[in-house]
Amino acid sequence: MTTTELPDSAITSVSDGDDALAWLADEAARLRAAGLHREPVVRTPDPTMVNVASNDYLGLSGHPAVVAGAHAALDTWGAGSTASRLVVGTTELHVDLEDELADFLGFPAALAFSSGYLANVGAITALAGRGDLIVSDTGTHASLIDGCRLSRARVVVTGRGDHAAVRAALRERTEQRALVVTDSVYSIDGEPAPVAELYSAAREHGAALLVDEAHALGVRGPGGRGLVAERGLSGAPDLVVTTVLSKSLGAQGGVVLGSALLRSHLIDRARTFIFDTGLNPAAVGAARAALGLLRSDAVMPDRLRANAVRLAAAIGVPDPAAAVISLIIGEPQAAVDAAAICRDRGVLVGCFRPPSVPAGTSRLRLTVRADLDGPLIDHVADVVMGALREVGIREGGIRGGAE
Ligand code: PMP
Repeated sequence: MTTTELPDSAITSVSDGDDALAWLADEAARLRAAGLHREPVVRTPDPTMVNVASNDYLGLSGHPAVVAGAHAALDTWGAGSTASRLVVGTTELHVDLEDELADFLGFPAALAFSSGYLANVGAITALAGRGDLIVSDTGTHASLIDGCRLSRARVVVTGRGDHAAVRAALRERTEQRALVVTDSVYSIDGEPAPVAELYSAAREHGAALLVDEAHALGVRGPGGRGLVAERGLSGAPDLVVTTVLSKSLGAQGGVVLGSALLRSHLIDRARTFIFDTGLNPAAVGAARAALGLLRSDAVMPDRLRANAVRLAAAIGVPDPAAAVISLIIGEPQAAVDAAAICRDRGVLVGCFRPPSVPAGTSRLRLTVRADLDGPLIDHVADVVMGALREVGIREGGIRGGAE
């Protein structure tokens, strides 16, 4: 395990003072002093490392059938999709994946993008523009936030899960068209949003609702179909669902689900679909194989949830609603130090600091997997508790879940 450390000399030795990018050194020093400097963790193929930082909730990214699905796609279609989807970047594999996802999730149609980020940005900007209103939950993922910003619509940000505030914003609007956007399971702490209430609010006020199911697919709902399915809303009118292939399905890519008319509109108007090279065939092949496994082993999500409950209990925080366990530490440096201690002891945990989370709520974020066994989960809990003690967090002082 290594990191790509920036040498101190890169921060202290600024060329001649006239350099237009000289301010980068000040900015780097400021971020370091605040404990907010970031380095990607560079993984090495180390089978002894326990990874509870990934979004590979069902442990499918390395599953032989999923890897074989990627290989088969590579063999047939090559390493890249070779063009944007509208030119020649759509293979029959892409279309099969879209049909299978639409069928599994209970929507008439689906459209795949090359990432979940691009799916969200593309869907929002195609559905709302200048002169429209977007009501966005404050807990939403950055890709939804960026979609709102790029849309040029008026954006009202409401408190986490505050459907009464959403209703009020929709009622008081002067714009004719409105779109409500939310995560179904918040990415940072794994708590569920009030999707059914948000849907009623949107319908009552003539608005559409876009729900990002990235952290619910394969985790919540019947057979892992997500929170929208759990709430009985699959295929509902005025509902747009986005999700990713990069979490429970262990591959990469994003997808938007809705009516056939919505799919056609996105093909015409979603810039992140039109101007982006199509999702690479290996990712499509892997995602199809993973979806096949999820369909044939409907208890995989149950195993995942049981593991999440076991890990939370061992750490002493409340039962999680999904696969994410968020341990709020407070100060960024303490979170970084605790994550480093865990890594040194063979456990990879997520470490989230501002701007990903509000100031004062830096945290460790553990993501459980369906393929971990009980003793390994208990070992993870021991390592995490030990690290927290070493950075001065006492048992009982850990805040789990939402801030
Ligand atoms: N939505 C949510 C809720 C996410 O957590 C993420 C992030 N990983 C994305 C969208 C973006 O998906 P992708 O990584 O496929 O771009």
